[in-house]
Amino acid sequence: MSDCLFCKIAAGEIPADIVFEDEQVVAFKDIYPKAAVHLLLIPRQHIVSLDELEPAHDALIAHMIRLLPKLAKDQGLDDGYRTIVNTGPGGGQEIFHLHLHLLGGGRLPGFG
Ligand code: AMP
Ligand code: ZN
Repeated sequence: MSDCLFCKIAAGEIPADIVFEDEQVVAFKDIYPKAAVHLLLIPRQHIVSLDELEPAHDALIAHMIRLLPKLAKDQGLDDGYRTIVNTGPGGGQEIFHLHLHLLGGGRLPGFG
């Protein structure tokens, strides 16, 4: 998608503080971090949100989920981390390219 911010980051057209990338995904630091460590993990492929996932994406999603512990460890999050996926306006999604938030470090706020 030509006007998608995260597609542009994945393509290297907009700078980001990239901490990991491979042929399927890119992980970079959130520009407005909500915790000491706040990464975003995106597929290179433009997928709008969880709502658009299809069986053909299963291997990609598994790859993303299984990368989270490695990314957390690489950031020094040895005692745990939080993973968030916002979906749709009602879920607080602001960028409509699927992304997993990975947060940790210090004391995270209570949840619920
Ligand atoms: P969401 O509300 O789940 O769509 O999250 C979007 C996230 O993208 C927010 O946490 C923003 O701080 C983050 N963000 C927006 N623009 C950029 C950017 N250029 N580079 C890195 N993170 C960004
Ligand atoms: Zn995109």
